[in-house]
Amino acid sequence: MSTRAYNFCAGPAALPEAVLRRAQAELLDWRGIGLSVMEMSHRSDEFVGVASKAEQDLRDLLAIPANYKVLFLQGGASQQFAQIPLNLLPEGGTADYIDTGIWSKKAIEEARRYGTVNVAASAKSCDYFRIPRQEEWTLSPDAAYVHYTPNETIGGLEYDWIPDTGDVPLVADMSSTILSRPLDVSRFGLIYAGAQKNIGPSGLVVVIVREDLLGRARSSCPTMLDYKVAADNGSMYNTPPTLGWYLAGLIFEWLKEQGGLEAMGQVNRRKQQKLYEFIDASSLYSNPIATADRSWMNIPFVLADAGLDKAFLAGASARQLLNLQGHRSVGGMRASLYNAVSEAAVDALIAYMAEFEKENG
Ligand code: PMP
Repeated sequence: MSTRAYNFCAGPAALPEAVLRRAQAELLDWRGIGLSVMEMSHRSDEFVGVASKAEQDLRDLLAIPANYKVLFLQGGASQQFAQIPLNLLPEGGTADYIDTGIWSKKAIEEARRYGTVNVAASAKSCDYFRIPRQEEWTLSPDAAYVHYTPNETIGGLEYDWIPDTGDVPLVADMSSTILSRPLDVSRFGLIYAGAQKNIGPSGLVVVIVREDLLGRARSSCPTMLDYKVAADNGSMYNTPPTLGWYLAGLIFEWLKEQGGLEAMGQVNRRKQQKLYEFIDASSLYSNPIATADRSWMNIPFVLADAGLDKAFLAGASARQLLNLQGHRSVGGMRASLYNAVSEAAVDALIAYMAEFEKENG
């Protein structure tokens, strides 16, 4: 049996043990060719095979329509904060952004360098505890796109609905929610996600973009950041992050073996439900987010007495329940329940929380 700890890190996050074991087994000699995947040309038949299988598996998992390109890029989700306006916001244009927390605010600040940003709605007025419904949004009639953050990794807010922006392309930062359940990709103009939560190791960002949005980059856009250049070159305009791409491919295969996103969605639904139910029934722990807007993947909670935080974390570590400390900007605790965090991990966490409450409540 494994001695691996239960890892609740927000990212880089837990990876499935089966994937790590497979990568380990293949590391020195990838499928009998005498090299590791890191040591072969990205243009070799072998690597191109790895890359296109990963793309196809992702397409299968998310049922990505044929008129979307899938790009495997670098620079993390943060680079997308600039790359999106450089590609989709014409000089002098306006883009609508929805502010639901720290990650949407970062996207807003970066986009302001490239044009006019209309913050069409903000959760600020309710202390970021609730997502404004679409009836409360003030969208601009001439927006080049609408950007939102379906899951706020730090605040723990998640939309359980997809905004309807008509003909205006909807752009979504899905870094911490992609692959957690089925998704209707056709509702979006562009989806992006840093890999280090549900896709694989850091160093890779996946972009799913509708083909008609390619070829719109402003002339000052660096070649490396032009989506069309990436799409025309199969994400190999330069040397891609080959190890990360390969590992993402192993994760996609693993997800298919688990039964795909329908099955993952059922497990993920149960995992978060259990933890929220426990927190809501407790008098020591609490989560402030409006019930309908609670994140499945990132569950922040505080202890009624912050003086107990240290003891709580120490006890958790002693039980191999790791990385439960909240983000440095907000404190408290946070349990991230990505795909590779098993239901047994959530059960172990709840058992520990109950025991700690009994001793300290
Ligand atoms: N958006 C969201 C929702 C995130 O959670 C993160 C990282 N935690 C980022 C963007 C930034 O990602 P990266 O570090 O890959 O730039």
